[in-house]
Amino acid sequence: MATAPLHDHDSGEGLVPVDEARERVLSKIAPLQPLELPLTEAFGCVLARDVVAERDIPEFASSAMDGFAVRSSEVADATTASPVELRVVGRALIGQRPEGTVGGGEAISIATGAPIPAGADTIVPIEDCQTSGDRVRILRGTSAGKHVRPAGEDVKAGEPLLPIGRRIQAPELGLLATAGVSHPLVRPRPRVTVISTGDELIPPTQTPEFGQIRDSNAYTLFAALREAGAVPTLAGIVRDDVDALKDVVLSHLVQSDAFVSSGGVSVGERDVVKAAFFRRGDLDFYKVAMQPGMPQGFGHIEGKPYFGLPGNPVSVFVSFELFIRPALMKMMGRRSLARPEITAKLDAEVTGPRGKTQFARVRVKRTAQGWIATPTGSRGSNLFATVARANALAVIPPGIETANAGSEVRVMLFRSMED
Ligand code: AMP
Ligand code: MG
Repeated sequence: MATAPLHDHDSGEGLVPVDEARERVLSKIAPLQPLELPLTEAFGCVLARDVVAERDIPEFASSAMDGFAVRSSEVADATTASPVELRVVGRALIGQRPEGTVGGGEAISIATGAPIPAGADTIVPIEDCQTSGDRVRILRGTSAGKHVRPAGEDVKAGEPLLPIGRRIQAPELGLLATAGVSHPLVRPRPRVTVISTGDELIPPTQTPEFGQIRDSNAYTLFAALREAGAVPTLAGIVRDDVDALKDVVLSHLVQSDAFVSSGGVSVGERDVVKAAFFRRGDLDFYKVAMQPGMPQGFGHIEGKPYFGLPGNPVSVFVSFELFIRPALMKMMGRRSLARPEITAKLDAEVTGPRGKTQFARVRVKRTAQGWIATPTGSRGSNLFATVARANALAVIPPGIETANAGSEVRVMLFRSMED
């Protein structure tokens, strides 16, 4: 006769729902203090205040053509049959104050990009001119402002240039440089210290003895942090030793805005992260109703957010996506914290734990029938190649044990469709 199992691994009872766990984390994360950073360092960061143009952009009116700067009223009726002859009284070169001003019957030769000399209001392109000595014959009429790029044409002094909350990408960086904002006020990139816990771990440079495992989590986290815009530091492997872990964390405090460790947060009181920090420094350990990634530790050590992730590589990846990435986005002042989501049709069934949200690794692609999601393997949280084959996580909510082929699911895209 079958007996009831001691513990039902598929039940969500007593577990924290995923959204609630994320809210708990985000409610305790504050944006980093803004800093004035040089342009190249500000790239990728979010502006912490509105930027206003202090001066006109461009700052001076310039010529859009090589030719002659003249008075439009004098050349309005010029034609090849009846040209207007003017005296050339100087030159206007790029980057220099024009030689002289344009008076009645006068012209100044001008290069593309050179400032318009006083007195002139239009440019006659070189193709419409005939020169001989200090004379120029204008062969075609032109109107005021023709081929003149006015000052402030792009942005006028006092007008808004970029809004607070805007992330600095190529257009923003170029615009800030143009406006002379050499040190914009931005939220800096979080500096995150990564720790791998476990007696069984060795660096990827070594060949494992029987039972040893290469530390992969540090590298998954390194890349995920970089991709999110953070600055990771790998503090290395720490043995399952409470004092060793505390030493590493405390010695990295000043240089860290946050910590991420993997391993050692399971139920066992001997699990090292729990043993080191439980009820110390405000760290909580709880079980989230999700698969993979159920046990999670989160809190602050000396005011710095600490994320204690489970050890299984897939759990690390999914936990990063669900909790750490949004927290980093908030620290960086980003407005939108979540990955883009789409709805896709499963092309094979996915089974998951009844009471938990399952994050199934899938590869989505766009077809004539819409978005299709193909599972990349089974659900074990140690099967990391299933992550490498995927580009998205399909969200199978609690209450659904089997999502059938053909059913529609919500999908979080974790990489760009080009990759
Ligand atoms: P733990 O949560 O410490 O019990 O670890 C759970 C599983 O994840 C164990 O099989 C570990 O060997 C594995 N694991 C822990 N840390 C890492 C790591 N840094 N890289 C790869 N696998 C790991
Ligand atoms: Mg461990």
